[in-house]
Amino acid sequence: MPADLLEGLNPDQLAAVTAEGSALVLAGAGSGKTRVLTTRIAWLVQTARVSPMGILAVTFTNKAAKEMLSRLSAMLPINTRGMWVGTFHGLCNRLLRAHHQDAGLPQLFQILDSADQLAAIKRLLKALNVDTDKYEPRKVQAFINMNKEAGLRAGRVEAWDPYTRRLVEFFAEYDAQCNREGVVDFAELLLRAYELLERNALLREHYQTRFRHILVDEFQDTSKLQYAWLKLLAGPEAALFAVGDDDQSIYAFRGADVGNMATFMRDMGIAEPIKLTQNYRSHATILDAANAVIAQNANRLGKDLWTDAGVGEPIRHYQAMDDREEAGFVVEAIRELYREGLAYADVAVLYRANAQSRAIEHALFTAGLPYRVYGGQRFFERAEIKHALAYLRLIANPEDDNAFLRVVNFPARGVGARTLEGLDAAARQGGMSLWQAACAGGGKNKGLAGFVALVEGMRAEARGLGLAETVEIVLARSSLIEHYKTEKEGEGRIENLNELTNAALAFAADADDQGLAAAAPGTTASAATADDPAQAQLIAFLAHAALEAGEHEAGAAADAVQLMTVHAAKGLEFHTVFITGLEEGLFPHENALTEPDGLEEERRLMYVALTRARRRLFLSHAQQRLLHGQPRYGLASRFLEEIPTALVHSLNLHRRPTPPPPRSTADWGGGKAPSQPSRELPHKIGARVSHPRYGEGVVSGYQGQGAEAEIRVAFPKVGDKWFILDYVKLTPC
Ligand code: ATP
Ligand code: MG
Repeated sequence: MPADLLEGLNPDQLAAVTAEGSALVLAGAGSGKTRVLTTRIAWLVQTARVSPMGILAVTFTNKAAKEMLSRLSAMLPINTRGMWVGTFHGLCNRLLRAHHQDAGLPQLFQILDSADQLAAIKRLLKALNVDTDKYEPRKVQAFINMNKEAGLRAGRVEAWDPYTRRLVEFFAEYDAQCNREGVVDFAELLLRAYELLERNALLREHYQTRFRHILVDEFQDTSKLQYAWLKLLAGPEAALFAVGDDDQSIYAFRGADVGNMATFMRDMGIAEPIKLTQNYRSHATILDAANAVIAQNANRLGKDLWTDAGVGEPIRHYQAMDDREEAGFVVEAIRELYREGLAYADVAVLYRANAQSRAIEHALFTAGLPYRVYGGQRFFERAEIKHALAYLRLIANPEDDNAFLRVVNFPARGVGARTLEGLDAAARQGGMSLWQAACAGGGKNKGLAGFVALVEGMRAEARGLGLAETVEIVLARSSLIEHYKTEKEGEGRIENLNELTNAALAFAADADDQGLAAAAPGTTASAATADDPAQAQLIAFLAHAALEAGEHEAGAAADAVQLMTVHAAKGLEFHTVFITGLEEGLFPHENALTEPDGLEEERRLMYVALTRARRRLFLSHAQQRLLHGQPRYGLASRFLEEIPTALVHSLNLHRRPTPPPPRSTADWGGGKAPSQPSRELPHKIGARVSHPRYGEGVVSGYQGQGAEAEIRVAFPKVGDKWFILDYVKLTPC
């Protein structure tokens, strides 16, 4: 019954879920935007306003799409298969697969991730004899992507100076190379999908009639091109439902445009956005801190956020000497939380820059705590996996030059740089792929001939076989595993390679569940229409590998501490959150400070970080940090000062420098001073005590020293409470 679905929603949420026509929900963190969006889909389907086929929903990550689909399956007794739920990239991929001919793409087009794209650009610049000191490949890449993301092809980019004119030439050449090779980069996915609908009236009308409801989460981070694509898809009839929070706009540097909110309201004739003001996620202390920080921004649409979840615990702040000590603090605190009964997976450690994770990972690893890094180096981006994928890509399409170059001499088989240069020249001259040129070479080079025979053998063997079996053929024939056996630290790589078979099995099983050739949300390629289903599944798997955002991890424990950048944490929530590296220059990041809206964007990022925490928040900074091999000395971040001091409890008081103990008698087991308070404990940990207001509880911890010393008691009804030891009246019982 619809009543069940809608139960528990507050009146504003209810209004949003059941809104007629297009609507914009503008609301702060944790106010239930994502929940409202998911519930709205279920409600639309359940009340038969639309069939699942008529729904398209855009989420920010593949993980979010998966979660949304599984929640929907739980809410509704329907098959979610027909729904288009995924990221912009995933959905565009799906569209392009279904209409590859209209989009001018080969049926089995491959997706280049950004490392592949950079390699392709380097190859191009080399072929054009370009001085790469003057035209750095990374800058060329950024130039191309920036323009594509703004919806511009090379022919439409305005260039006033010779330098830019050259860049535009490279852009055009690069696109020509991609077209020749049948590959598509990330930015191209979006632009192609947009052009496809724009140019093809029949297709456009087909989708406009099909999708009655289009829903977008995290709308504040959509770019102009993405918004234009959504509008094309929606046409004049469909209802567009967007939820967002201007205070969480953190992708302006990548072309996201908060202005889309105002444009959207104007385009759809929406007079007022729906506002949600109750936060269901966090305790008041956490929310107060987040509100205080974001209040420092001038450029805001302005929203209120309140909670009735109670005040909660103070925010804890720790100042470390250096990054190692900071990491040690995080590990100790997590151990303590675990002892209290918190699962590792309920804890997130956030940082501003990926490079910061190394010290924390090291400390967690040494302490033997399970952890998982999101959005760092993704499984599918690891070198060994990319090598194996390159063989798979050649099985799918031997004319894939990028894949060819990656493994033609890996493991080494005597194909030298000179041979490759000759091959490249022959291919360009003859207008053919490297593979064709190699075949035409007629075995002149032994190594090259061996490679061609190897790939042909793999292709023949894999014909008609399942995905996981194909992966096994690659692992067995490519000698990758033998190669890594000879490497000093190759063990982990071999483990990852074997994990690739598991990834393929999981992918195939998901696909079977959904009755499709592919299962990743949004990557459910209609490659199922390819003549050979095994081939189609291989292609879908390769697309999944390029688009997937790091959910697959070799040997990852189910219960593991979650490590990620603040950007990657958007939309998520955790019981306990550590925000580390709160130093000027790092967070806010120094690069941002020279940009016009830079500081405000950094502050929004801080707002996102703070609002991920449900119950407990730890903030830390280090006076000295080793980053990219260089020591840096950072002052405490201004964001720390923007949090009212009454909300924050410093953890440093009990760690005031104590004179080192005499060497002869001390055994500190690794040099760490015990963090036990020095005064005598009035109650043992684990002792039962009674409190005048909360009744009976169990002593579960101490912190601080002297007048700052605190005791923590776990009460069956109200949970954990901290008390100042000098004031609290606890009687043993
Ligand atoms: P963010 O801006 O961080 O993406 P959000 O606005 O999307 O946050 P949600 O993630 O949807 O917020 O919700 C935050 C938490 O509040 C979730 O755990 C959700 O289940 C819970 N929640 C939302 N609405 C209600 C409600 N009416 N009753 C109880 N819990 C709710
Ligand atoms: Mg959300």
